[in-house]
Amino acid sequence: MLIDTYGRVATDLRVSLTDRCNLRCTYCMPEEGLQWLAKPDLLTDDEIVRLIRIAVTDLGIEEVRFTGGEPLLRPGLVGIVERVAALEKRPRMSLTTNGIGLERTAVALRDAGLDRVNVSLDTLRPDVFQTLTRRKRHEDVLRGLAAARAAGLTPVKVNSVLMPGLNDDEAPDLLAWAVENDYELRFIEQMPLDAQHGWKREGMITAGDILASLRTRFELTPEGQEERGSAPAERWLVDGGPHRVGVIASVTRPFCRACDRTRLTADGQVRTCLFATEETDLRAALRSDAGDEEVARIWKLAMWGKKAGSGLDDPSFLQPERPMSAIGG
Ligand code: SAM
Ligand code: SF4
Repeated sequence: MLIDTYGRVATDLRVSLTDRCNLRCTYCMPEEGLQWLAKPDLLTDDEIVRLIRIAVTDLGIEEVRFTGGEPLLRPGLVGIVERVAALEKRPRMSLTTNGIGLERTAVALRDAGLDRVNVSLDTLRPDVFQTLTRRKRHEDVLRGLAAARAAGLTPVKVNSVLMPGLNDDEAPDLLAWAVENDYELRFIEQMPLDAQHGWKREGMITAGDILASLRTRFELTPEGQEERGSAPAERWLVDGGPHRVGVIASVTRPFCRACDRTRLTADGQVRTCLFATEETDLRAALRSDAGDEEVARIWKLAMWGKKAGSGLDDPSFLQPERPMSAIGG
């Protein structure tokens, strides 16, 4: 098992497949992009599958989520999903994507064994999309979403980040659209994980703001704390159900005490938290011919050192060196 000194057990593994992306969301990356990881530094498909096998066979991981950067840019994605699906202890598998190219790959991903997708979409307005992401790809995302639903990668979840002055008036419209299209919407509070260090606590759109805005048009009934479990989203039934809406309040209502995650970056570093300032190098172990037992031992040791919380509520909080796109969000 992956267990820490606070008794938390990690059963959910987030795997970043690349730090590259075809969008430039303002809360994530600068317009010019970033210095991408060099190819030799990236884990190979074989190395990724081996680490996932060790995680599910020896370390109790039950759920694997592929992310990035933009995971659909990883050429070997379908093959990786297929090989993970063939493991003796098959984990549940999902993908977090900006949806560009999903129209072409949704069926192949489902056939390979992917269970679900989360697609990020912050606005229903093409012009606002272009301002937020600095790319004209709104239509591609909508088509990707529809393809995922048609392929049965359900429930299709939509992640939205609200930015002051840009799309903070869109919460009710996004929810009405999600209900109509049978997508499960989750709002994520903007976190200090952008490469440009532009996040400001003052003025950020909080879970409280989002709920107040939604309640101008919908009746929201809490689903109950017990059901939240280790899931970061607090969920509400919309107008009595069956549709739901979630809010991930990482900043104003952190869920660190129930965290069940461990993370692997595209260059093979284990991170115990999005906000961790330390990493543990599994790639070096793999490339020095360590056996599975040794790799598992190093991973367990990393987990043992997991901090109690993100530190966001501490005045001495320091943003991690790696931005979200390089950690794997
Ligand atoms: N490119 C894929 C995507 O956008 O879904 C996967 C990686 S992205 C880093 C994962 C999620 O993190 C997206 O839903 C994105 O909106 C969210 N995200 C990125 N930067 C964020 C930030 N500073 N605060 C909150 N969420 C952020
Ligand atoms: Fe790319 Fe996702 Fe970051 Fe947007 S949030 S720039 S889509 S990695």
